[in-house]
Amino acid sequence: NTFAEIDLGEALNLNIRRCKYVKPTPVQRYAIPISLSGRDLMACAQTGSGKTAAFCFPIISGIMRGQFGQRAPRMPHTACPHALILSPTRELSCQIHEEAKKFAYQTGVKVVVAYGGAPINQQVVIFITVSINDSNFVNSKEVLTFLLLPRRALVDLLERARVSLQFIRYLALDEADRMLDMGFEPQIRKIVQQMDMPPPGVRQTMLFSATFPKEIQRLASDFLANYIFLAV
Ligand code: AMP
Repeated sequence: NTFAEIDLGEALNLNIRRCKYVKPTPVQRYAIPISLSGRDLMACAQTGSGKTAAFCFPIISGIMRGQFGQRAPRMPHTACPHALILSPTRELSCQIHEEAKKFAYQTGVKVVVAYGGAPINQQVVIFITVSINDSNFVNSKEVLTFLLLPRRALVDLLERARVSLQFIRYLALDEADRMLDMGFEPQIRKIVQQMDMPPPGVRQTMLFSATFPKEIQRLASDFLANYIFLAV
């Protein structure tokens, strides 16, 4: 009934206390244990339901514990994130980024936001900075990143080979219905195609949407494996 009872890792549990979150919201109560158990998830969640934490906590916790199939190699000009969160707008991505930074504080997980509009060079600088593998942490854990994407930015970066999605262990799609309404289905499919097909169970996918029209169900059946459907 409280976050203290969910073992998300010491550093993350501490950050949750710092954020003054005590009790999980309904979507968090069900979604977090499902994701921690390794299952794919399709969840019905409105704005304000606490969905950001519902997908950030399992991702940060999993990366902290080193639950990824393959370690990213050192590639000096290419970021190799272990998780990717896609959202429909710059505003939403920036909000998720701000929240996720608080959750990831001193966990060894680095959070980066990528969006269209900024000159490509500035974005690349961000990626290079975070993809340096010497971290400041005592146990010199590899610095890990996750990116947020609205619009074309990541597609552009992928085309310029600045970001490799080969090592993505966690994929979250936020406000999936809005992304489809805005016409992003081709971009989403292109991005997911860039992820190496991992062995079953290696990539975990979480799809959050306020509504479940046919297009979303099709996306779920294409991207999710043996998933749990959650409506709260
Ligand atoms: P979201 O739906 O993710 O945009 O979250 C809506 C708001 O609720 C944000 O301001 C969060 O910081 C806050 N929030 C999320 N989860 C909790 C929680 N378990 N306890 C208190 N506040 C929360």
